[in-house]
This record gives sequence, C-alpha cells and structure tokens, in this order.
Amino acid sequence: MEKITVFNNLTRSKEILKPIDGNNIKFYSCGPTTYNFLHVGNARAAVVADLFHRTLKASGYNVKFVRNFTDVDDKILEAANARGIHPREHSQEFIRECLTDYECLGMLPAHVTPLVSETMPEIIEMIQDLIKNGYAYTVAKEDGASEVLYNVPMFKEYGKLSKIQLESLQHGVRVESDVNKKHPSDFVLWKPAKASEGWSWDSPWGKGRPGWHIECSAMAKKHLGKTIDLHHGGVDLIFPHHENEIAQSEAANGCQFCNNWAHNEFLNFGSEKMSKSLGNVVTIRKFTETYSGSILRHILLSVHYRSKLEWTEDSITKAIGEIERIHEFTIHLFGDQKTGAADPAELAKVQKALVDIKHEMANDFNVPGAMGIFFGVIKDYNRISKNGVDALYTHAIIEIVNFMKDATGLVHDYPEEVLRQLNMARKHLSGTDNAGGDAEIEQLLVERKEARATKNWAKSDEIRDRLNALGVVVKDNPDGTATWSYK
Ligand SMILES: [Zn+2]
Repeated sequence: MEKITVFNNLTRSKEILKPIDGNNIKFYSCGPTTYNFLHVGNARAAVVADLFHRTLKASGYNVKFVRNFTDVDDKILEAANARGIHPREHSQEFIRECLTDYECLGMLPAHVTPLVSETMPEIIEMIQDLIKNGYAYTVAKEDGASEVLYNVPMFKEYGKLSKIQLESLQHGVRVESDVNKKHPSDFVLWKPAKASEGWSWDSPWGKGRPGWHIECSAMAKKHLGKTIDLHHGGVDLIFPHHENEIAQSEAANGCQFCNNWAHNEFLNFGSEKMSKSLGNVVTIRKFTETYSGSILRHILLSVHYRSKLEWTEDSITKAIGEIERIHEFTIHLFGDQKTGAADPAELAKVQKALVDIKHEMANDFNVPGAMGIFFGVIKDYNRISKNGVDALYTHAIIEIVNFMKDATGLVHDYPEEVLRQLNMARKHLSGTDNAGGDAEIEQLLVERKEARATKNWAKSDEIRDRLNALGVVVKDNPDGTATWSYK
C-alpha cells in the first residue's frame, strides 16, 4: 500500500495520511446546493474530490466517500416558490441533473450522498448536544418559536483551521441587524420557519430548519463517525464553513473532528475577453454538450489542485491535443501486433515509470507530475513500437495505463468514441459551417482518392481546397488510407 502525502491545512504542512482504522479511509467532501444547474466553476471541487477518491482507491485503500447535497436552502425555497412547486421536487430535479453532470465528468459515485431533508433527527440531536454542553443558546422569536445560535467565544480553539483570530472578527465584522447575537461571529444552528417557505420540520424549538453549517457535522458523524480522516472542499469554504464545522463537531462530540483538511484552489476565468468567449457556456451541462466531459475533466486536472487554474483562450485546444495523444496511443497499444524482441533497457525504463507515476500521485495527488511521465512513456512507445513490441513490454505499459485510468480518470475506455467527440469539439471551436455534415466530407475523400489514383491532380487540388474551406485537415496514411479531422 502506497503511503499518501496530503497538504493538511490544519497544520499548513504536507503530512502522511495515517488512517484511524487500518487501511480504511473516512472521507467527506462538501457537495453542492441543488437549486440550479452547476456552473463550470463548481466542477473543479467535484472533480478534485473524485481525484482523491480514485487515487486513494488505486493506491490500495478502502475508502468510504461521503458527499452531501444541500437540498434545503433559501435559494431552493425561492426557486421552488417561483415555479409554484414543492421545494423537494425542485431539489430532486437538480440532484438528478447534478448526478448526470458528475457521470459525464467521469466521476465515480460517492458511497453515500446524504440530504439535509433526510438527516433532520441527527441535526436536531447535535444541536441539543451543543446546548447541553454549553456551546449554543436559544433566542425567543414570534409564535413561541426559537432561534438557536452557536456561541463562538465558548469554543477556545475557534480559528485553528483558518488561522483567523476571534478578536479580529469582533472588530472587523459589521454589526448585523440580528441584535440577539451575543457575539458578531455567532452563527445560526436552527431558524424558525417563515409561513411562506413551505418546507419546515418540527423541533424542540418549534417549526423550522437548520442553518447551513450544521448539516455537514451531522452527516459526517452519521455516516463516518465522530473523527474522520480526510475532509475536502474549495478554499472558499475554509472560513467560515469548515471552521464552524470543527466548532460544532468538536463541541458536540468532545473529540477531534478531522485529521486532514484539504482544499482546492479556484478556477479563474481570467480576462474579461475569456469570460466573454465562453459566452453562454457557463454551466457544466452546456460545456459538456458543446465539447465533452473528458475535455472539461482534462482542463480541471491540468494543474495541481492547490494552484489557481487560469482558464485561457487555448485551454480547450490544448486539452483536445493531449486527450488525442493519449487515446491514439491506447488504440495502438491494444491493437498492435506483439512481435519483436524484448529490450531489457526499455522494459526497465517502463517499470521505473510506473513507480515514478505512483510516487507522483502519492505526493499530494500530483496529476501534472504523473502526466509528464506518462507522456514520456507514450513518446517512447510510439518510437519503439514501429519495430514491433513484445508482450512483456506491452504488459508493463498496460499496467501504467490502468493505473492512470483508475487514479486520474483521464484515460478512457472506448478511445475511438473519445476521438470522435474531440473531432466534434474541434468542429465547434473552428465554427465551421458545414451544412453537408460528415457525409459530405467522406464523399469528398472518396472523390479525392479516385482523383489521386488516376493522377488527376487538378481535381485533387480542387477537392483539397473544398475540404480546407470546410475546416478539414486530411492526413494520408502509409497504407494508402486517409483520415481526417477538423482544424
Ligand atoms: Zn460542508
């Protein structure tokens, strides 16, 4: 079993992940609020959580992965109200859409995907524990209902994740209209329902619903236990969300909540020009329909998860080129005749590459590092395979391909289908107006072949110009066939 190093934001240092229980890893990642289609920007956190899950699994760990859906939220209530449907119906619809996007992005399913609406008894129980332990207080509201607030100064270690000093908050935080708070940083655990909201639960404090932060503390405890191994989210969640999760869980359970906290950086759409060029392609759905899930996944994992990802004008083109290189290679790998003699030096080189790739992935999930080595392997294979390869060498390479597939999800089954999607994406990028479709191109290629066979160069040139106008590049293969792709 490979030792995995993770940058732990609790200690601000890289540490070896030491599971609490043998080789079982309890992993929680904060999921989305399901009020609408997810934005491309949301996809990075989702894919990074999937990367952790995959890499830990591929490295021999037994992972239990929990990712929640926030299905009770102001935005959901508003959206459902506007549509005149029950908030549950609205939430359920976007949970399904979200799962469709996740599948399209090549994500493995989480083991448990808890909903707030199905965790109410555990949420209420935890709030009761916080009141009992002296970390929460109630404030009476209209109609006999009460609001429950977390008493932040009571939790002496508050700020240990974000490194934010409570004293600085006292001065920095704008005084809110909520005069009932004992301290400006106190946050809501339970709030009374408004009559218009249409979705509320009975509690010891009257009809109401939970604040946002408490759900993750209650869900992690319910599905993983009081102390977990790894918790993930975007950097925007460090404060206050994750800081509050720690305050809630540790004050309610009386023990450490999580041993390793990992956060992914933002995805920046860079210049205004770039944001504009994406136009209405801002949801994951729109992007994957226009281009493909494999392209978005490739872009999202093209830089280390702790680095900012700048979306540039050539992000899509660059991803297409790399995905193509990988999948043209896998087509050869599984199709080539395995004849020729083993070269011990080349075999040793490939075996070392596998060790190095595993090492990169174990080093805080360094996908770019592993990818660099993988492209070196592809280059070597393309050179060596011209003279034939033997089964031993091929087997060693297949081992690398399988590990990259499992750990990163950037190598796909059905490579021909992947190449077809890339072709469509290129077509979209070039904005080619091709009313005749692919059939017209195929027909032109047949005519071109005939023209060349009869040495009718004028005709052949004419067809080439026509294909050029359609944005098509033709590649003549040594065996006499021709393949084409969009520029
Ligand atoms: Zn959370």
